Amino acid sequence: MGHELHVTTCYNPVCRKVFDFDPETVNSVLVDPETGLPPDTDPETRTPTRTPTPEELARSERMPICPECANKMRRRIAREQKQG
Ligand SMILES: [Zn+2]
Repeated sequence: MGHELHVTTCYNPVCRKVFDFDPETVNSVLVDPETGLPPDTDPETRTPTRTPTPEELARSERMPICPECANKMRRRIAREQKQG
């Protein structure tokens, strides 16, 4: 008790699941409001291959994502780091 849960829609455009979240522990992604994509994602190829500029990082906001998408993202990042 005492932990307030909020309801939001997963930011991932291919998911859009409505889920409960705790703002203190929620998983989130950094999103550039101008492109609607993470600042390191190339808008044409939709792959995280760009190096974001300081301006892009400054205007980006953290958007909540559901636990399933967070897990997928963690697996993707782990795979990319292995490929190094
Ligand atoms: Zn999701």
